[in-house]
Amino acid sequence: MNEPHLPERCSGCGFEIARGAAGCQTIFEELVARDFSDVRFGRMHRMLVDIYSLQHPDRYGASAKSFAAHLTGLCWSVEHQAASRARGNEALRIWIDGDPGIARPDAPSFRGALTIAHVRAQSDPAAYARAVEEWARSTWEAYAPLHERAHQWIEQAYRGQPRPARPKGSTF
Ligand SMILES: [Zn+2]
Repeated sequence: MNEPHLPERCSGCGFEIARGAAGCQTIFEELVARDFSDVRFGRMHRMLVDIYSLQHPDRYGASAKSFAAHLTGLCWSVEHQAASRARGNEALRIWIDGDPGIARPDAPSFRGALTIAHVRAQSDPAAYARAVEEWARSTWEAYAPLHERAHQWIEQAYRGQPRPARPKGSTF
C-alpha cells in the first residue's frame, strides 16, 4: 500500500517537506553527492555543510567540537571573501583537532528564515553559489546570540601555538 506523505516540519530547520527531517536530510545528501561529482558546485561544499549542520545541530553538532567547527566555519565564511576562506578553515581545523576543551552552547531555536529549500532547485552553479551565500547570512543572523562566542573561538584558534614539550626535570 502506497500512502502519500503529507508535509511535516523538519525539526531542525522548519522546512515543510514530506517525511519532515528525513526528507530534509535526503535533499542534503543529494547536494553533498553533487558536490563530489561536480567541482563547480563543490566549491560551496564547506559552507553547505556548516549551514546545514547549524540548522540541524542535534544531528550534526551534538559534540562541542563539531558544534564549534561549524559555528566558527560559518562565521569565517560569512565575514571573509571566498579567496581567504580556505586559509581560515585550515587554522580552525587545527584548533578543533587540538581538543581545545570548550563547552557546547545551546543552539538558538529559530535557525533562520531560509532553509535548504532556498538552494535545492538551483541548477546553475553561479546562481547556486549566490543562494548558498544568502542562506549562510540568514542562518548566521539567527545565530546572533553566539556571534561573540564564535569570535572568541576564532581568536583562540589564531593564538593557538603548538605547545612545546615539557623539559625533563621540569617542576611544573
Ligand atoms: Zn531541515
